[in-house]
Amino acid sequence: MKPAQFEYDDPQTLDEALELLARHGDDCKVLAGGQSLVPLMNFRLARPGRLIDINGVASLSHITSESGRLVIGAMTRHVELERSTEVARQSPLLTEAIGWVGHSQIRSRGTIGGSVAHADPAAELPAALAALDATFHMRSKQGARVLGWKQFFVSEFTTALAPDELVTAVQVPDQDPSTGTAFVEYARRHGDFALGGAAVTIKLGRDGRCENATIALLSAGPAPVRAEAAEKQLRGARIDESSIHAASVEAVKGLHPTTDLHGSTEYRVGLLQTMTERALTKAAERARSMTG
Ligand SMILES: Cc1cc2nc3c(=O)[nH]c(=O)nc-3n(C[C@H](O)[C@H](O)[C@H](O)COP(=O)(O)OP(=O)(O)OC[C@H]3O[C@@H](n4cnc5c(N)ncnc54)[C@H](O)[C@@H]3O)c2cc1C
Repeated sequence: MKPAQFEYDDPQTLDEALELLARHGDDCKVLAGGQSLVPLMNFRLARPGRLIDINGVASLSHITSESGRLVIGAMTRHVELERSTEVARQSPLLTEAIGWVGHSQIRSRGTIGGSVAHADPAAELPAALAALDATFHMRSKQGARVLGWKQFFVSEFTTALAPDELVTAVQVPDQDPSTGTAFVEYARRHGDFALGGAAVTIKLGRDGRCENATIALLSAGPAPVRAEAAEKQLRGARIDESSIHAASVEAVKGLHPTTDLHGSTEYRVGLLQTMTERALTKAAERARSMTG
């Protein structure tokens, strides 16, 4: 199918884009990589009256490091994240997660800003960014604001973005050298959206006990889910098979992922527990190898 008719603008600066959004906010959509929006338009599930194509706004495409934080511009393509040595060094969880996003054709066009603004609960980047306690930088003509992942992701395909606002960048704290991370998911075929997955970080102390842990699950609810009770259970604990198993059981307590043709709620809960257990095991091994 072809999309319904729309007007088209291609601003070349952020100010121009914000001006257009202020003028047409309610009736327009931002076009980034187009990997989610264009299929929705072709199926006529989205019918924006106007597209504001931000591919010409060069200032939104960058990967920089600022005072202990990785700053990734919204128009940074998945493939640029995947290949960045800076991202691999400072935030290997992102490098691992991005490899699971669709296929290389999708990753060559899709952007980090598009992924987080689209807020698909099965998407890899929102969960990885939740595990990393990332912050989301937004701008409108009225000014700038910054939200944590918890405030930014509201529900499925819904964020805190106002119609006249753009995501301009995502900031990720640099990884401490004694932290191990892992991203694990299960999809029927590589490149499909995950039926369940886990993004985790584990920081080990000198005594080998866990100083901090974060566990974020995808395809577990309407938005990325942080398993806070399980994280708390791990803090101060010796990380071994039994504490990892107990935390994985805790992580899925109270979850009710929806039943669909790919799997029942019970199946998905079991899958999420297994994904959590595998991710924690991998992250702990990596943390140990870094702390010697
Ligand atoms: C076959 C296929 C398989 C895929 N598999 C996966 C997968 O396994 N995992 C996964 O995570 N994704 C997958 N995707 C989606 C892909 O990752 C998209 O690239 C991503 O979801 C959206 O990024 P985009 O830059 O293409 O955004 P677009 O499609 O251009 O936009 C998506 C939405 O975000 C809004 N938006 C975009 N940028 C901004 C911004 N800076 N500020 C405010 N709003 C903005 C748009 O208005 C639109 O509503 C797949 C897509 C396809 C076609």
